[in-house]
Amino acid sequence: MATKRSYNPDHVTSQANAAANGFERTASSTKSGHTVRDWLDLHKMSARAVLSILDMQAGATGRKGQSGNSSERHNISVSAKAAWKLASDAMAVSFPDLADAITNTGRRCEVKLEPVERPHVIDNGWRIAPTIHLNFRGDASSFLDVAHEFSHATQLIARTQEFIPPMIREVAAFLGELALVSYLNEADQLSAFDVHQEWQRQNSTYLGRDALALKAALIDPKTPYDYRHNYPCARVLASLLFQHADRQKLSAVFQGTWSVADCVDAVQFAEKRKIMKNNFPEIPEKDPKYPAVEAYRTLGMMAYLDLDYWHGHSEKPIKEYFEGLLKHMKSNSLYVVIGDENKPIGYATWNVSKDQPDQIEITRQAAPFGDHLTVQRSLRARLPDVTSALAVHERSARKGQMAW
Ligand SMILES: [Zn+2]
Repeated sequence: MATKRSYNPDHVTSQANAAANGFERTASSTKSGHTVRDWLDLHKMSARAVLSILDMQAGATGRKGQSGNSSERHNISVSAKAAWKLASDAMAVSFPDLADAITNTGRRCEVKLEPVERPHVIDNGWRIAPTIHLNFRGDASSFLDVAHEFSHATQLIARTQEFIPPMIREVAAFLGELALVSYLNEADQLSAFDVHQEWQRQNSTYLGRDALALKAALIDPKTPYDYRHNYPCARVLASLLFQHADRQKLSAVFQGTWSVADCVDAVQFAEKRKIMKNNFPEIPEKDPKYPAVEAYRTLGMMAYLDLDYWHGHSEKPIKEYFEGLLKHMKSNSLYVVIGDENKPIGYATWNVSKDQPDQIEITRQAAPFGDHLTVQRSLRARLPDVTSALAVHERSARKGQMAW
């Protein structure tokens, strides 16, 4: 028989099982018997690493110290069922790779709507659908609670290992909240403003009071562990990952295969990429009087992109490298894609099939800042007569795959 346990310990449930790992219980940390030292060890972190995550918070939420003091609570006239459906739709848009787990969360989980002190998820055991308890009041806060618990449940279903450290659970839950905020914004839903305001308001708890308590606790590692210690770093990491990281990679958070250090690495990688992006100069207006200047500029942009891409081309001898690109320039079979900031974001080269002029083989696609889809979409728009494109992987055992 699977052990039932409270999955979200601050959200008190009488079903919390004393046999469950103490890190999952809501009861006071003293009762769990764990200390801050145990909690750091569980997450393979030092106190310094925790503080450095907290230092990233200005970038995570836009403001340090936090905002959203308004205590106004609007009813946003959405039923619990509709909120549940929206949470599911929002997750599916932000994390398409998790489609199966998201669908299963919506279909298989039992949702109990009843007056509970805090919403929570009951982990019914490995590979068994969890039960969700919601106290839905129809306001923005309840809306976020639904997204939070939905995401906890999705992680329980998507996980590839039974135990997931609590901070990673909260990263997943906060990603679910952000998916909802983003979804409502993009769908231009009336509730978007209130829900976003509420999300900001809750930052004052997670990144204010909770962060202060955590910093105080870190001074003495023997301080009893409190589940709320997980929230500040999880909030910061979820916000930064949601804003900057490759969404596909975030499946690992739900599967429970990423550690906190992996989350930090992903944030830092994404930020480095952003900084590189900003270093590109803007491209000046084309001057048809000087085609040679344009040609040099195009070559320069490609060389620049290849330096950052580092998939072999920048290691080639210069003669070979430029001859290859020149051949494509002469045959008009290369395209540098300019992004929204009027800076190059990638380029592609291709060969046209000798027998079928509507078929091409893409010989190179460089998108050092992760804009592969934009590069491919632009290329497709640029070549409207091409009906099929085969992308060749230069260093892959796979020979190629259809680009469209
Ligand atoms: Zn939670």
